[in-house]
Amino acid sequence: MTRCPRCGLRLTAGRCPADLPELPRCTDPDPRYYGREYGTVQQLVHRLGADVTVGMVRQWRKRKGLGNHDGLSFLDEAQTIEGDIRRRKDRRGRPRRVDVGAAVAA
Ligand SMILES: [Zn+2]
Repeated sequence: MTRCPRCGLRLTAGRCPADLPELPRCTDPDPRYYGREYGTVQQLVHRLGADVTVGMVRQWRKRKGLGNHDGLSFLDEAQTIEGDIRRRKDRRGRPRRVDVGAAVAA
């Protein structure tokens, strides 16, 4: 029982089932969603920076407005949030302590 070091899922034949070169694309005909790559928290983690964890992406869903579309979230939204966090980290050092309360109100 070996688990993926990135996302914690159990490996299948030595590979993580969430480690995909390309995520599924949304088939919702709504033009706001159609064709965008989306996936589970674990799938997103594999497509984001090496320091991004499953726990962080779950928090983004709760606190940072990362959408939850039938249990899946859009990669581009997650990348935008990741980018915001990195920019803030450059400026202030310890970003994750700052936004806990503020993002709930947003
Ligand atoms: Zn994985």
